[in-house]
Formats: sequence, C-alpha cells, structure tokens
Amino acid sequence: MILVFLGPPGVGKGTQAALLCRAQGLRHVSTGDLLREAVKSGSELGCKAKEFMDRGDLVPDEVILGLVREVMDGHPGGILFDGFPRTTRQADALGELAAERGRSVGAVIRLVADEDEIVRRMLARGRADDSEETARHRLQVYLQNTAPLVEYYGKRGLLREVDGMGAIEDIHARVKAAVGTDGAKAWPS
Ligand code: ADP
Repeated sequence: MILVFLGPPGVGKGTQAALLCRAQGLRHVSTGDLLREAVKSGSELGCKAKEFMDRGDLVPDEVILGLVREVMDGHPGGILFDGFPRTTRQADALGELAAERGRSVGAVIRLVADEDEIVRRMLARGRADDSEETARHRLQVYLQNTAPLVEYYGKRGLLREVDGMGAIEDIHARVKAAVGTDGAKAWPS
C-alpha cells in the first residue's frame, strides 16, 4: 500500500503520519526529513537542497525523485509519503515509479485546517525555516504548486478529506477512519 498525506506546511502531516505508521506498520517517508538529514550530513545533495529550503522554495523535482526512487527500491512494503508529491510532475512520477514496481497509490489523505492555526503551529515548532516570513512564503508555494494535487487525486477517486483541527488523538481517529481500519490488509503493496 502506498498512502500520501497532502496538506499545507504546518497542518500536522508529520504528527499524524507518524501515528498512523505506528498503528498500521507503514514506513513513514517525509521528504522534508530526508532532505534535512542530507543537509546535516553535508552531502552534495544536501548542500544543493539547503538554499531552496532556507528560502522556503521547493527543491527541484529531480533531486526529490532520486530520493523517492531509492526509498521505493529499499522498501517493498507499505509506505506513507508525507510532503511528497508536491507538484503534478512529482505526482505523475510517483504513479510511474509505483506502476513500474507493480504498486499503486491506494489513498491520498488531505488534512485541512484554518490558515491562522497553520501559521500558529509552524511558529510554535520553531524550525530553522519557520520564521514568519518563510512560513508565509511556504504557504504561498503550497497554494501555487501543491494545492492543484487536490483536484489531481480527486479526479482519480483517491482523495479522502480529514478535518485537521482539534486534539491530536481525535484527528488520528479521523485519519484511521478515512484510511479504513482494514486498509493495511485490503491493499496490496
Ligand atoms: P513543511 O510541510 O512544513 O513544508 P517539510 O519538512 O515537508 O515541511 O519540507 C521542508 C522543505 O523541504 C520545503 O519547504 C521544501 O524546500 C523541501 N521539500 C520537502 N519535500 C519536498 C518535495 N516533495 N518537493 C520539493 N521540495 C520539498
């Protein structure tokens, strides 16, 4: 099973993805975390990615797709992508990479929250790229590049909307209901 978490920065994708992965034994793949690890390690890829991340811009698709290909080859079991895909080109590529491996995207969970709450959560988390200016820029980048994926996956019948406001456990229960408790068994890898 391949699941995708979709939603603006700060909506709580990382928190909810971690909980769902623990509950359902999925591999949690956050492209943001992979990039931050690459930056920390000082690798060439990390150095290249850092300037985009510091500005709050998207890292080029080729860089991201290289990382995702590696992950998919390394993990034949269930994967939950958090923060990927972020462009229609990345979404097309995910479909192709999955199909080449006899797999498919089973569902796309869209987390929804108020803009004020999103900015509040980003500022509270205090990450290096979470200054108010960068946070607002990342929201704009999301609206322009990533929000079209709502329609993209909606058209394919894969989209499940989840209210991301309220307590973490309540949101987790809604996410599980949206995925379906027998999801792990019902979907082939
Ligand atoms: P958030 O969801 O709060 O934006 P992430 O950890 O998902 O945080 O992403 C942090 C940064 O990493 C993004 O602003 C972007 O620069 C880069 N990034 C992460 N995933 C992708 C992706 N799929 N495509 C392009 N850039 C990405």
